[in-house]
Amino acid sequence: MPSTSSINNMEAMIMSTLKLCQQSIETVRCLASTSNQPTKADFNLLSAYAAQQADSHGTATVSSTIIDQQQNSGQFQFGFQPSATLIPSQSGILASSISITDMVHPEVRRQILSGKHVNLNILLMPNFQPSKRPSKELDERLSRNLSLDEFIVAFGRFKRIMVAAFANRSQELDDYMAHIIETANIWPEKFYKYHKLFSAKCATVLYQRNQIIDWSYGDPGLRQLVCAGSRVRNCDTCRSTVHVSAICVLWL
Ligand SMILES: [Zn+2]
Repeated sequence: MPSTSSINNMEAMIMSTLKLCQQSIETVRCLASTSNQPTKADFNLLSAYAAQQADSHGTATVSSTIIDQQQNSGQFQFGFQPSATLIPSQSGILASSISITDMVHPEVRRQILSGKHVNLNILLMPNFQPSKRPSKELDERLSRNLSLDEFIVAFGRFKRIMVAAFANRSQELDDYMAHIIETANIWPEKFYKYHKLFSAKCATVLYQRNQIIDWSYGDPGLRQLVCAGSRVRNCDTCRSTVHVSAICVLWL
């Protein structure tokens, strides 16, 4: 016959084991609910329809049976909060209700947000994947110098992606854009090369020193080095580089 103390010990051991089991079950439940948190990667047609239906209080014509089944089986979660500016119709939102859509590959977005130097040519090619196998034709397209118009379009995309994550950089990048436009007006053939070297320098400093360069003023020393000796666009009448011939004051 086991003694009373050994029975008590066994009881305590069983209780402790049961407690551990309960804790494990709770942990698993907790982890499962965390892994079901919605992320953008989970977005699909079903989740969009579900969000639309939730927004319109069940007035959408999408089959609620399918959505209910999906919800009950836990295959997707609501993850999209419709913006007040999105205009819903019965079949989805109107394309015209979204003014700007930058078709930029997620890999490029990651590069931008991690502070790497990004070839702006890539941002002019819809959903271009940087790891795509290189070819001679592709190399030529990627190494061309952008015109000022193209630069403004590509850098606008770069800025929107950056500012979506780092809102504090909005003014800084606006100032940099103005700096580049000024550079392009004086040295039209060299401004893009200057931008490439400046961007690469910022990425290198970040990578090697973990320091962020303020883009607002660019790098006048580097600009001088790159642009010196190249053709300068100036006024035909007074040779000034700060205005074009059409608005020269000497004409007035
Ligand atoms: Zn002039």
